[in-house]
Amino acid sequence: MHQAIDIEAICAQRGLRITEQRRVIAKVLSEATDHPDVEALHERASAIDPKISIATVYRTVRLFEEAGILDRHDFGDGRSRYEAAPEAHHDHLIDVESGKVIEFVDPELEALQRQIAEKLGYRLVDHRMELYGVRLGREGQS
Ligand SMILES: [Zn+2]
Repeated sequence: MHQAIDIEAICAQRGLRITEQRRVIAKVLSEATDHPDVEALHERASAIDPKISIATVYRTVRLFEEAGILDRHDFGDGRSRYEAAPEAHHDHLIDVESGKVIEFVDPELEALQRQIAEKLGYRLVDHRMELYGVRLGREGQS
């Protein structure tokens, strides 16, 4: 999971015009090991090129998302977070206290979801699973 994905190379494959600023944003996204929102992306991109505006980051992530290069997530706090569309599927567990996002894959869960879809007369082509949790042993603390 989170193996470096070369977004710039994927843009080239898909015929997306890549400007210098888009290249910087693609690089920041390729190097992210978390699920940054637009503000975090803007901070990282402007550390490389201070002329990059937050509006450019918004437009670029939308473009990448529409091209299927990025996945957008909403982990319950109303902020859109982005990650390079992974080659291998994974799901997310969100720590509701810290906002930390943990990635996981569970083959039994994957199989179960396929079975549920089949029972309902469908072949599963995609799914999203978000688990929200509080760290065990932390309940009752304040
Ligand atoms: Zn992820």
